[in-house]
Amino acid sequence: MPRKLDFIPYARPVLDEEEVSEVVDTLRSGWLTTGPKVNKFEAMFSDFIGCKYALAVNSATAGLHLALEAIGISPGDKVITTVHTFTATAEVIRYLGAEPIFVDIESDSYNISPECIENVLLTHTGVKAIIPVHYAGQAANITKITEIAHKYSIKVVEDAAHALPSTSNNRMIGSISDATVFSFYANKTITTGEGGMVTTNNKEISDRIKVMRLHGINRDAFDRFTSNKPSWYYEVIAPGYKYNMMDMCAAIGIHQLRKAYSYQEKRAVIAKKYSDAFEMLPVITPKHVAANDIHAWHIYSLQLDDDSNTISRDDFIKKMMGLGVGTSVHYIPLHRMPYWKKKYHLEDHNFPVSSKVSNQHVSLPIFPSMTDCEVDHVITAVKNILLR
Ligand SMILES: *Cc1c(COP(=O)(O)O)cnc(C)c1O
Repeated sequence: MPRKLDFIPYARPVLDEEEVSEVVDTLRSGWLTTGPKVNKFEAMFSDFIGCKYALAVNSATAGLHLALEAIGISPGDKVITTVHTFTATAEVIRYLGAEPIFVDIESDSYNISPECIENVLLTHTGVKAIIPVHYAGQAANITKITEIAHKYSIKVVEDAAHALPSTSNNRMIGSISDATVFSFYANKTITTGEGGMVTTNNKEISDRIKVMRLHGINRDAFDRFTSNKPSWYYEVIAPGYKYNMMDMCAAIGIHQLRKAYSYQEKRAVIAKKYSDAFEMLPVITPKHVAANDIHAWHIYSLQLDDDSNTISRDDFIKKMMGLGVGTSVHYIPLHRMPYWKKKYHLEDHNFPVSSKVSNQHVSLPIFPSMTDCEVDHVITAVKNILLR
């Protein structure tokens, strides 16, 4: 092993002096919550994506909830999604009293399988939407998925928590379907601490989200018609939520967004180094299926080869920890989570690809401030464990 290094965590946010001074500026301005910095961040974001509307919220979970509400998901409706994701993707369906229909993933990209989606649509009625997840930052087959959605007149809301920036057939994720939701949680590709953004090209969806993210207060009506009304006046038109983003968070986001491509390039370099280094090992390295598209490389998920490996994934993780490297697993799939498993009677054999993959998956550190020395240390640790 190389000389002793500090522990390499699974993830570490990169925050520069410019983020710090922008937050200080916000604190000194006297305007802490939703205000000028959120407006600026939203304008920058819609420019960045190339979409008409960008709505800042306090988490991607909130954004997914708002997007489903805005497209009209109501009790009893069905929404198709993947088991190979974080629980937030599915819990928002339950928030609205709707029912998730879970499907399996493709074995190359680990993304939701369009074939499985079509099978559900052939056998179920009452399906209103699909929520694909762009796993690890590689776009799901969104061309095929939107095609299926048009055919069955249902909506698509993308969980793009990993996918900033990502493209699909050279189109930016966030500019394609009915609504797309990004996350700025502390370990995501850019961060605001906690935060999220919904993008859409649909004015009605945008208007509804604007109202519902702040208590159902009709701001547009407020702004348009209040010239002759006192400033304390507002109207509530629906039982909305408290999902607005604070200016303190947007202050961080404004600077993070400017660096989103340079962060992506750094992660792509790390991913390539890993994959080159692991070529001879008994592992399956993550596939970049459409090489011309931008892969956000939010996650580098190594699949241990179950045929030739004598080490289990769980032991591998322990050994990595012993060698000073933090790792993670994406994901323990939802069909193995007690709530989802019991409520919808989900079994491993219903999701053979996700079940197999999730037994063998381990996510390695891949963050833009990793030094060459740290990347080499991770590579050496993996080789030490797997080469025998
Ligand atoms: C992180 C994540 C979310 C939730 O994002 P928050 O901003 O923490 O609410 C949703 N879906 C996926 C796939 C995620 O990785």
